[in-house]
Amino acid sequence: MWEQRWHPLRREWVVIAAHRNQRPWSGAAVAAQPAVEPYRADCYLCPGNARVHGAVNPPYTGIHVFPNDHPCVGPEAADPPPATSPYRRRDARGRALVVCYHPRHDLRLARLGRDRIAALIEVWAQEERRLAREPGVRHVLVFENNGTAVGVSNPHPHCQIYATNFVFRAVEDAMAAEREHGGGLFASIIRAERADAERILHDRDGAITFVPWFARYAYEIYVAPERRVPRLADLDDGERLALAEALKAALVRLDNLWSSPMPYVLAIHQAPADGSADRDLHCHIVIQPPLRRPGLLKYLAGPEIGGGNFIADTLPESGAAQLRATAADHYLGDVA
Ligand SMILES: [Zn+2]
Repeated sequence: MWEQRWHPLRREWVVIAAHRNQRPWSGAAVAAQPAVEPYRADCYLCPGNARVHGAVNPPYTGIHVFPNDHPCVGPEAADPPPATSPYRRRDARGRALVVCYHPRHDLRLARLGRDRIAALIEVWAQEERRLAREPGVRHVLVFENNGTAVGVSNPHPHCQIYATNFVFRAVEDAMAAEREHGGGLFASIIRAERADAERILHDRDGAITFVPWFARYAYEIYVAPERRVPRLADLDDGERLALAEALKAALVRLDNLWSSPMPYVLAIHQAPADGSADRDLHCHIVIQPPLRRPGLLKYLAGPEIGGGNFIADTLPESGAAQLRATAADHYLGDVA
Protein backbone atom coordinates (compact mmCIF):
# COMPACT_ATOMS: atom_id res chain seq x y z
CA MET A 1 0.00 0.00 0.00
CA TRP A 2 1.29 3.41 -0.96
CA GLU A 3 -0.66 6.48 0.05
CA GLN A 4 -0.16 9.90 1.52
CA ARG A 5 -2.20 11.09 4.48
CA TRP A 6 -2.47 14.70 5.55
CA HIS A 7 -1.32 15.41 9.10
CA PRO A 8 -3.72 18.24 9.96
CA LEU A 9 -1.81 19.46 13.03
CA ARG A 10 1.65 19.47 11.44
CA ARG A 11 0.21 20.51 8.06
CA GLU A 12 2.33 18.02 6.15
CA TRP A 13 1.85 14.81 4.21
CA VAL A 14 2.83 11.46 5.74
CA VAL A 15 3.74 8.72 3.27
CA ILE A 16 2.22 5.39 4.33
CA ALA A 17 4.29 2.50 2.96
CA ALA A 18 3.01 -0.28 5.18
CA HIS A 19 4.62 -3.17 3.31
CA ARG A 20 8.06 -1.88 4.29
CA ASN A 21 7.77 -3.00 7.90
CA GLN A 22 8.36 -6.65 6.98
CA ARG A 23 11.52 -6.03 4.96
CA PRO A 24 14.54 -8.06 6.14
CA TRP A 25 16.77 -6.47 8.73
CA SER A 26 20.26 -7.65 9.60
CA GLY A 27 21.38 -4.66 11.68
CA ALA A 28 21.52 -4.19 15.41
CA ALA A 29 18.44 -4.68 17.56
CA VAL A 30 17.51 -2.50 20.51
CA ALA A 31 18.33 -4.55 23.60
CA ALA A 32 15.47 -5.41 25.90
CA GLN A 33 15.58 -3.45 29.12
CA PRO A 34 17.31 -5.44 31.86
CA ALA A 35 15.50 -6.17 35.11
CA VAL A 36 15.36 -3.12 37.32
CA GLU A 37 15.65 -3.00 41.10
CA PRO A 38 13.39 -0.83 43.32
CA TYR A 39 16.34 1.23 44.58
CA ARG A 40 19.83 1.94 43.26
CA ALA A 41 22.56 3.62 45.28
CA ASP A 42 24.03 5.14 42.10
CA CYS A 43 20.75 6.61 40.80
CA TYR A 44 20.64 10.41 40.95
CA LEU A 45 16.83 10.31 41.16
CA CYS A 46 16.32 7.81 43.99
CA PRO A 47 15.38 9.30 47.41
CA GLY A 48 18.31 10.25 49.63
CA ASN A 49 20.91 10.03 46.85
CA ALA A 50 23.36 12.75 45.83
CA ARG A 51 23.00 14.45 42.44
CA VAL A 52 25.76 15.56 40.11
CA HIS A 53 26.43 18.99 41.64
CA GLY A 54 26.22 17.74 45.20
CA ALA A 55 22.55 18.40 46.01
CA VAL A 56 20.94 15.53 47.90
CA ASN A 57 17.44 14.29 47.11
CA PRO A 58 15.09 14.40 50.10
CA PRO A 59 13.58 11.11 51.30
CA TYR A 60 10.53 11.82 49.14
CA THR A 61 7.57 9.46 49.21
CA GLY A 62 5.34 10.87 46.46
CA ILE A 63 6.06 13.11 43.47
CA HIS A 64 9.32 15.08 43.67
CA VAL A 65 10.11 18.19 41.58
CA PHE A 66 13.59 19.74 41.40
CA PRO A 67 15.70 21.85 38.99
CA ASN A 68 17.40 20.02 36.12
CA ASP A 69 21.16 19.75 36.75
CA HIS A 70 21.86 19.92 32.99
CA PRO A 71 19.36 22.50 31.70
CA CYS A 72 19.20 23.36 28.00
CA VAL A 73 17.90 26.82 28.82
CA GLY A 74 18.86 29.04 31.75
CA PRO A 75 17.27 31.97 33.63
CA GLU A 76 20.45 34.05 33.29
CA ALA A 77 20.96 33.81 29.52
CA ALA A 78 22.62 36.99 28.23
CA ASP A 79 21.27 39.03 25.32
CA PRO A 80 23.32 37.81 22.38
CA PRO A 81 25.12 40.23 20.06
CA PRO A 82 23.57 40.83 16.64
CA ALA A 83 24.48 38.40 13.84
CA THR A 84 25.29 38.99 10.20
CA SER A 85 22.23 38.91 7.90
CA PRO A 86 20.59 36.51 7.04
CA TYR A 87 21.58 35.02 10.37
CA ARG A 88 19.66 35.92 13.48
CA ARG A 89 20.33 35.29 17.11
CA ARG A 90 18.26 35.50 20.26
CA ASP A 91 18.62 34.33 23.83
CA ALA A 92 17.46 30.89 24.97
CA ARG A 93 16.03 31.72 28.34
CA GLY A 94 13.98 29.66 30.68
CA ARG A 95 13.92 27.08 33.39
CA ALA A 96 14.20 23.30 33.33
CA LEU A 97 12.76 21.00 35.98
CA VAL A 98 12.75 17.27 36.62
CA VAL A 99 9.67 15.53 38.04
CA CYS A 100 10.13 12.12 39.69
CA TYR A 101 6.85 10.23 39.57
CA HIS A 102 7.59 7.84 42.40
CA PRO A 103 10.41 7.00 44.83
CA ARG A 104 10.64 3.47 43.43
CA HIS A 105 13.32 3.15 40.77
CA ASP A 106 11.61 0.27 38.95
CA LEU A 107 8.11 1.64 38.44
CA ARG A 108 6.92 2.88 35.09
CA LEU A 109 4.19 5.48 34.68
CA ALA A 110 2.10 2.74 33.06
CA ARG A 111 2.06 0.81 36.34
CA LEU A 112 0.92 3.64 38.59
CA GLY A 113 -2.73 3.69 39.61
CA ARG A 114 -5.18 6.10 38.05
CA ASP A 115 -5.32 8.37 41.11
CA ARG A 116 -1.54 8.67 41.24
CA ILE A 117 -1.46 9.58 37.55
CA ALA A 118 -4.20 12.16 38.18
CA ALA A 119 -2.08 13.62 41.01
CA LEU A 120 0.84 13.82 38.59
CA ILE A 121 -1.32 15.65 36.04
CA GLU A 122 -2.21 18.11 38.80
CA VAL A 123 1.51 18.63 39.56
CA TRP A 124 2.17 19.24 35.86
CA ALA A 125 -0.66 21.79 35.87
CA GLN A 126 0.55 23.51 39.07
CA GLU A 127 4.10 23.79 37.77
CA GLU A 128 2.79 25.21 34.49
CA ARG A 129 0.79 27.85 36.38
CA ARG A 130 3.75 28.70 38.62
CA LEU A 131 6.29 28.89 35.78
CA ALA A 132 3.90 30.96 33.64
CA ARG A 133 4.17 33.75 36.22
CA GLU A 134 7.94 33.98 35.84
CA PRO A 135 9.09 36.91 33.69
CA GLY A 136 9.88 36.02 30.11
CA VAL A 137 8.26 32.55 30.13
CA ARG A 138 6.13 32.12 27.01
CA HIS A 139 5.53 28.39 27.04
CA VAL A 140 5.78 25.30 29.22
CA LEU A 141 6.57 21.94 27.65
CA VAL A 142 6.15 18.80 29.73
CA PHE A 143 7.80 15.74 28.23
CA GLU A 144 9.05 12.28 29.13
CA ASN A 145 11.87 10.52 27.32
CA ASN A 146 11.57 6.85 28.14
CA GLY A 147 14.02 4.05 27.37
CA THR A 148 17.51 3.60 25.98
CA ALA A 149 16.06 3.66 22.46
CA VAL A 150 15.43 7.40 22.95
CA GLY A 151 18.68 7.97 24.80
CA VAL A 152 17.61 7.57 28.41
CA SER A 153 19.67 5.13 30.40
CA ASN A 154 18.07 5.77 33.79
CA PRO A 155 14.77 3.87 34.14
CA HIS A 156 13.76 5.80 37.28
CA PRO A 157 10.28 7.11 36.38
CA HIS A 158 10.53 10.80 35.65
CA CYS A 159 9.77 13.54 33.16
CA GLN A 160 11.06 17.01 32.44
CA ILE A 161 9.51 20.44 32.22
CA TYR A 162 10.97 23.20 30.07
CA ALA A 163 9.62 26.71 30.63
CA THR A 164 10.99 28.79 27.77
CA ASN A 165 10.94 32.23 26.18
CA PHE A 166 9.81 30.57 22.94
CA VAL A 167 6.95 28.27 21.94
CA PHE A 168 8.01 24.82 20.77
CA ARG A 169 7.57 24.13 17.07
CA ALA A 170 4.99 21.34 17.28
CA VAL A 171 2.73 23.59 19.35
CA GLU A 172 3.29 26.58 17.04
CA ASP A 173 2.33 24.36 14.10
CA ALA A 174 -0.78 23.00 15.81
CA MET A 175 -1.92 26.52 16.72
CA ALA A 176 -1.37 27.78 13.19
CA ALA A 177 -3.35 24.80 11.89
CA GLU A 178 -6.23 25.57 14.29
CA ARG A 179 -6.27 29.22 13.19
CA GLU A 180 -6.22 28.24 9.54
CA HIS A 181 -9.13 25.86 10.18
CA GLY A 182 -11.07 28.61 11.96
CA GLY A 183 -10.95 26.73 15.30
CA GLY A 184 -12.30 23.35 16.28
CA LEU A 185 -9.71 21.39 14.30
CA PHE A 186 -8.84 19.02 17.13
CA ALA A 187 -12.53 18.49 17.89
CA SER A 188 -13.01 17.52 14.25
CA ILE A 189 -10.14 15.02 14.57
CA ILE A 190 -11.91 13.46 17.57
CA ARG A 191 -15.15 13.32 15.57
CA ALA A 192 -13.38 11.66 12.64
CA GLU A 193 -11.75 9.10 14.92
CA ARG A 194 -15.11 8.30 16.53
CA ALA A 195 -16.69 7.95 13.10
CA ASP A 196 -14.03 5.45 12.02
CA ALA A 197 -13.81 3.95 15.53
CA GLU A 198 -11.20 1.35 14.57
CA ARG A 199 -8.20 3.26 15.92
CA ILE A 200 -9.73 4.17 19.30
CA LEU A 201 -8.12 2.48 22.32
CA HIS A 202 -10.19 4.12 25.05
CA ASP A 203 -13.08 6.59 25.12
CA ARG A 204 -14.72 7.25 28.45
CA ASP A 205 -15.96 10.09 30.67
CA GLY A 206 -14.77 12.86 28.37
CA ALA A 207 -11.25 11.65 27.56
CA ILE A 208 -10.15 9.73 24.48
CA THR A 209 -7.10 7.66 23.48
CA PHE A 210 -6.43 6.81 19.84
CA VAL A 211 -3.87 6.00 17.19
CA PRO A 212 -4.43 8.93 14.84
CA TRP A 213 -5.29 8.30 11.19
CA PHE A 214 -2.19 10.35 10.32
CA ALA A 215 0.19 8.54 12.74
CA ARG A 216 3.83 8.80 11.73
CA TYR A 217 5.16 6.17 14.13
CA ALA A 218 3.84 2.60 14.18
CA TYR A 219 2.32 2.85 17.64
CA GLU A 220 1.84 6.60 17.97
CA ILE A 221 -0.98 7.52 20.36
CA TYR A 222 -2.89 10.72 21.14
CA VAL A 223 -4.61 11.22 24.49
CA ALA A 224 -6.94 14.19 24.89
CA PRO A 225 -9.79 15.62 26.89
CA GLU A 226 -12.96 15.86 24.83
CA ARG A 227 -13.55 19.46 25.91
CA ARG A 228 -11.26 21.99 24.34
CA VAL A 229 -9.10 23.31 27.15
CA PRO A 230 -5.87 25.16 26.35
CA ARG A 231 -3.91 23.70 29.25
CA LEU A 232 -3.99 20.87 31.79
CA ALA A 233 -4.65 23.50 34.46
CA ASP A 234 -8.06 24.14 32.85
CA LEU A 235 -9.32 20.59 33.44
CA ASP A 236 -11.89 20.08 36.18
CA ASP A 237 -11.46 17.27 38.72
CA GLY A 238 -13.55 14.78 36.75
CA GLU A 239 -11.75 15.56 33.51
CA ARG A 240 -8.38 15.13 35.18
CA LEU A 241 -9.35 11.67 36.44
CA ALA A 242 -10.70 10.76 33.01
CA LEU A 243 -7.51 11.95 31.33
CA ALA A 244 -5.41 9.96 33.82
CA GLU A 245 -7.36 6.84 32.93
CA ALA A 246 -7.02 7.55 29.22
CA LEU A 247 -3.27 8.09 29.56
CA LYS A 248 -2.90 4.91 31.57
CA ALA A 249 -4.83 2.99 28.92
CA ALA A 250 -2.32 4.14 26.30
CA LEU A 251 0.79 3.30 28.30
CA VAL A 252 -0.49 -0.08 29.54
CA ARG A 253 -1.29 -1.24 26.02
CA LEU A 254 2.12 -0.13 24.75
CA ASP A 255 3.88 -2.21 27.42
CA ASN A 256 1.52 -5.14 26.93
CA LEU A 257 2.13 -5.20 23.16
CA TRP A 258 5.34 -7.23 23.48
CA SER A 259 5.20 -7.81 27.28
CA SER A 260 8.14 -5.49 27.56
CA PRO A 261 8.65 -1.86 28.59
CA MET A 262 7.93 0.16 25.45
CA PRO A 263 10.31 3.09 24.89
CA TYR A 264 8.62 6.36 23.94
CA VAL A 265 8.70 10.12 23.84
CA LEU A 266 5.65 11.65 25.50
CA ALA A 267 4.89 15.35 25.14
CA ILE A 268 2.05 17.50 26.38
CA HIS A 269 0.99 20.14 23.90
CA GLN A 270 -0.44 23.10 25.79
CA ALA A 271 -1.20 26.66 24.73
CA PRO A 272 1.38 29.39 25.46
CA ALA A 273 1.63 30.38 29.09
CA ASP A 274 0.64 34.04 28.62
CA GLY A 275 -2.94 33.16 27.60
CA SER A 276 -2.60 35.05 24.32
CA ALA A 277 -3.57 32.07 22.17
CA ASP A 278 -5.95 30.15 24.41
CA ARG A 279 -8.46 29.72 21.61
CA ASP A 280 -5.84 28.24 19.30
CA LEU A 281 -4.99 24.98 21.01
CA HIS A 282 -6.89 21.95 22.27
CA CYS A 283 -4.53 20.54 24.89
CA HIS A 284 -3.45 16.97 24.12
CA ILE A 285 -0.76 14.40 24.88
CA VAL A 286 1.30 12.84 22.09
CA ILE A 287 3.10 9.53 22.70
CA GLN A 288 5.60 8.51 20.03
CA PRO A 289 7.33 5.14 20.48
CA PRO A 290 10.34 4.77 18.13
CA LEU A 291 10.05 0.98 17.60
CA ARG A 292 8.27 -0.49 14.58
CA ARG A 293 8.83 -4.14 15.55
CA PRO A 294 10.20 -5.71 18.75
CA GLY A 295 13.76 -4.41 19.08
CA LEU A 296 13.66 -2.63 15.73
CA LEU A 297 13.93 1.14 15.56
CA LYS A 298 12.23 3.32 13.03
CA TYR A 299 15.32 5.06 11.72
CA LEU A 300 14.98 8.60 10.45
CA ALA A 301 17.06 8.67 7.29
CA GLY A 302 16.97 9.92 3.69
CA PRO A 303 13.27 10.80 3.38
CA GLU A 304 12.94 12.18 6.90
CA ILE A 305 16.32 13.79 7.59
CA GLY A 306 17.38 14.34 4.01
CA GLY A 307 14.06 15.21 2.46
CA GLY A 308 11.98 16.39 5.39
CA ASN A 309 9.02 14.07 4.79
CA PHE A 310 8.04 11.19 7.02
CA ILE A 311 7.63 7.64 5.71
CA ALA A 312 5.46 5.50 7.99
CA ASP A 313 6.39 1.82 7.64
CA THR A 314 3.09 0.72 9.08
CA LEU A 315 -0.58 1.33 8.59
CA PRO A 316 -2.06 3.22 11.57
CA GLU A 317 -5.06 0.83 11.53
CA SER A 318 -2.67 -2.10 11.95
CA GLY A 319 -0.87 -0.54 14.91
CA ALA A 320 -4.21 0.30 16.49
CA ALA A 321 -5.56 -3.23 15.94
CA GLN A 322 -2.50 -4.75 17.62
CA LEU A 323 -2.81 -2.39 20.58
CA ARG A 324 -6.56 -2.97 20.87
CA ALA A 325 -5.92 -6.73 21.05
CA THR A 326 -3.75 -6.38 24.18
CA ALA A 327 -5.04 -6.74 27.73
CA ALA A 328 -6.35 -3.66 29.53
CA ASP A 329 -4.32 -4.49 32.69
CA HIS A 330 -0.54 -4.13 32.79
CA TYR A 331 1.27 -7.45 32.38
CA LEU A 332 3.33 -6.74 35.50
CA GLY A 333 0.39 -5.46 37.54
CA ASP A 334 -0.39 -2.05 39.01
CA VAL A 335 1.08 -0.34 42.03
CA ALA A 336 -1.39 1.89 43.81
ZN1 LIG B 1 16.32 5.67 41.00
